[in-house]
Amino acid sequence: MAITIKKSSKEVEGLIRRVEEISGVDLNLCYQCKKCTSGCPVAKMTESPPSEIMRRLLLGAGDELLGSDIIWACVSCETCSARCPMGIEVAAVMDALRILALEKKAEKQEGNVPLFNRAFLSTVRLFGRTYDIAMIAAYKLGTLKLMNDTEKFPTMLKKRKIALLPPTGADRKTARRIFKKTKQNKAGKE
Ligand code: SF4
Ligand code: SF4
Repeated sequence: MAITIKKSSKEVEGLIRRVEEISGVDLNLCYQCKKCTSGCPVAKMTESPPSEIMRRLLLGAGDELLGSDIIWACVSCETCSARCPMGIEVAAVMDALRILALEKKAEKQEGNVPLFNRAFLSTVRLFGRTYDIAMIAAYKLGTLKLMNDTEKFPTMLKKRKIALLPPTGADRKTARRIFKKTKQNKAGKE
């Protein structure tokens, strides 16, 4: 993929600075060994693997980087962070880019990944940890494709891959407090 290098643009400086601010990562430490990419389970399915994202940020990429498909393909497995010889939290960079993509309403945030993220977080906020049935219901209502993939449901139930009852023993009050605090912190920054 062609890499565009921009010089001394405020927008460019802003993207690098914001990514470093949010992720706590020093992008200058990356020396392009590509170990993050070689371990990434989704790298081959995307146009820009993690090492390229790091490089493009360093070269001065602007908001166009927020349209990269890996931002939403990334499954937060943290393999990239674990493999990086410089101890760079590459997964945190992906998190930062997701936050910025949502903030700036970047193009490729579409698809159902943001919807899935919202469904996942809603169940954690309500039940203190993930609750599969509630998450699936919220996701399916959002997509309006209620019958998609339902053929797998009985097998997953039989193999106990999906719990019918809400999780027990979760500290719901603490989870709600964390969500509330995060919301307040975010409002304070705006
Ligand atoms: S593993 Fe670390 S140093 Fe190597 S390319 Fe990835 S981020 Fe850069
Ligand atoms: S956290 Fe994301 S970018 Fe890193 S290895 Fe996993 S899927 Fe790839």
